[in-house]
Amino acid sequence: MKVIDHLKKSKSTLFSFEILPPLKGKSIQSINESIDPLLEFNPSFINVTYHREEYIYKKREGGYLERIPVRKRPGTVGICAAIINKYKIDTVPHLICGGFSKEETENALIDLQFLGIDNVLALRGDAVKSEAHFVPEPGGNEHAIDLVKQIVELNKGKYLNEEASEVNSHLDFCIGVAGYPEKHFECPNIKTDLKHLKAKVEAGAEYIVTQLFYNNEKYFEYLKLCKELGINVPIIPGVKPISTKKQLQSLPKFFHVEIPEEFADSIEKCKSDAEAKEIGIEWGIKQCTELIKGGAPCIHFYTMGKSESVKRIAKAIF
Ligand code: FAD
Repeated sequence: MKVIDHLKKSKSTLFSFEILPPLKGKSIQSINESIDPLLEFNPSFINVTYHREEYIYKKREGGYLERIPVRKRPGTVGICAAIINKYKIDTVPHLICGGFSKEETENALIDLQFLGIDNVLALRGDAVKSEAHFVPEPGGNEHAIDLVKQIVELNKGKYLNEEASEVNSHLDFCIGVAGYPEKHFECPNIKTDLKHLKAKVEAGAEYIVTQLFYNNEKYFEYLKLCKELGINVPIIPGVKPISTKKQLQSLPKFFHVEIPEEFADSIEKCKSDAEAKEIGIEWGIKQCTELIKGGAPCIHFYTMGKSESVKRIAKAIF
């Protein structure tokens, strides 16, 4: 079932979460271990992230360095299909522009549809670590909106390089896109970022999932700005409980989000990660309670392979 239909059907706030494929060489068991503790909250859908290649450098004879592409977390498509098969829960694979030509994107979408997957989160992806800016693949999509447009065309049965007369089946995906209550880090200002978001919705995105945030005011303000601009699709808040002291620096660094002073002070005072985790759960409960009260259509948790905090928050709020 499509995410948009889950959202339309429900009268209360839904529960969903995101998982990462295991590192290459690890078994799928770790995925089951992330999902099993959360089944009691009846997740409407599970997102599976996509991780593009990184580059490692190996010293070769003669002293030169060989640049080798490595994908550390392959398996997004297989994991989505395995979850549907084992748990009968809808999955949302993340699909990115980076590293894909349009032809490869089309083939990936055809695979997904044949596997019974009818949802996709359309993203641009970040620049590869060794490059300062995002560079699209030759013949690939440059922005998430271009990927949305490609999926919309496929939903109409318009394949690349295929004569309409030879086509008798179209794809049928519900498309979600990313939104940033604290603005995307590359964008000069929130209003410009919102214009790009609106364009993604006008191109065919049916809902938005936000970047994680810790200050609900930013989310509620974002909803207001979206409404003023005529963005009327559901906006699902993304929540990631803090579970270590180090995340006080790493989360703002990687996700470009602020941690409110009161919360940061409490984490700073913790003597251990175990204490920080408890504070993170408390904050998560408070944050989600407010989001539900404020009418959030769904709360989407970023588990990052760790379900315990999410389980305790979900137990308190659902
Ligand atoms: P876009 O919508 O293309 O926006 C990127 C930037 O370009 C923004 O600053 C935007 O304002 C600007 N922009 C957009 N359109 C235009 C235009 N036409 N002209 C000029 N500027 C434009 N990354 C992964 O690699 N794998 C994942 O699985 C993954 N999952 C994510 C899930 C969520 C919910 C979120 C919020 C992010 C996720 N990301 C993931 C990270 C995401 O790929 C990065 O944040 C990336 O830098 C931007 O992706 P986007 O889809 O928002 O891009």
